[in-house]
Amino acid sequence: MLALQGSVAPHLAALEALGVSAISVRKPATLDQVDRLIVPGGESTALWRLLCHAQLWEPIGARAASGDLALFGTCAGAILLGRETQSEPPPRWGIVQVTVDRNAYGNQVDSFIGPIDYRIAPLTQGAVGEPNGGVLSPSGAHHGANHGANHGAEGVFIRAPRFRDPGPAVQVLAERAGEPIALRQERVIIATFHPELSTDRRLHRLFLDL
Ligand code: GLN
Repeated sequence: MLALQGSVAPHLAALEALGVSAISVRKPATLDQVDRLIVPGGESTALWRLLCHAQLWEPIGARAASGDLALFGTCAGAILLGRETQSEPPPRWGIVQVTVDRNAYGNQVDSFIGPIDYRIAPLTQGAVGEPNGGVLSPSGAHHGANHGANHGAEGVFIRAPRFRDPGPAVQVLAERAGEPIALRQERVIIATFHPELSTDRRLHRLFLDL
């Protein structure tokens, strides 16, 4: 768990609920000990500065690009993992084939909680500790496996970004009003919302299984 800034404690609690005790990464020596990393929401420019100062920007980017480090970026974390862009600071790692537009719903007062549609199955009872954590593969909708998957599912959007022009390597994990809000590209998951602030743990479970 990257613990420089932002929504760290709620992610740790979400992992705890799945039976996982995570370590907090603040320096390169600790990064060397992990094979997966959550990059939390917060403020992306502040986070970028802190990552550079801690000498974590380069090694995270290099390890993610080689597939050696699984990543889960939420909100500001998703912004940093998206495509490089000249138009808007901060710099991006450019790992996921998607442009991420910052503050795309408006200002802080335009933050909201709203219904979302997962494209992956929910965790089943007793899923914790099972090899695949009860996560079914996407596209269950056609086979009935997604039935009820989105009952009551909601997302917390805090000065959230929006995804634009996802590339062919990207798989949609969740949508809101037909627009992608959670994506996966190989060993990287990104979400524009804050899954750690809801009770639904399916994205965290999927991340742990990458
Ligand atoms: N708006 C913030 C940014 O641009 C992200 C907000 C969040 O992480 N909840 O960095």
